[in-house]
Amino acid sequence: MHRMFGFSSPISPLLKRANACMASGDCLAAAKAYEELLEQSGPQPGPQFAFVCLQAGSARLQAGQSAQAVNHFRRGLDILAAHSRYAQMYHSGQRIKTELEKRGMVREARVFMAQIHSNMPAAAEIPTQHVSEQLPTLPPICPICGGFLRVFELHWRNAHTAECSFCASPLEIA
Ligand SMILES: [Zn+2]
Repeated sequence: MHRMFGFSSPISPLLKRANACMASGDCLAAAKAYEELLEQSGPQPGPQFAFVCLQAGSARLQAGQSAQAVNHFRRGLDILAAHSRYAQMYHSGQRIKTELEKRGMVREARVFMAQIHSNMPAAAEIPTQHVSEQLPTLPPICPICGGFLRVFELHWRNAHTAECSFCASPLEIA
């Protein structure tokens, strides 16, 4: 089987450790582990690395390191745009904008949204996502890698199967 993305094993122990640190509120340890993962991303990082970037940004933001946070956020968005993951880019962007505004970083939030809008194609070119009218119920974290699952930021393979943003494991939704 081919490797679905750039992590060196099907589920990287480093990814699990980063997610566990994030879930337990140890933002600095989480940030360092996510950044270690990013060093393995290579010149053309897969879409999972976008969420590693965004999570590294959230971890740095929670640790009060806003400049580093913003750099991670911007890179994460660029990776999503490079993979035409526009729905994910839009919804992740909205969440991060709120995270920035909550910390009084209104100017950064505005610059960030401008980046999203400049990356967005015309509405007609945005691929439709398979999301049913009724919001699916998801576990709060991925049972495989421990990453946070956010329903609007998932990539859907079909109407019943989404992928974990971090490890791409299929998540069967009833
Ligand atoms: Zn996962």
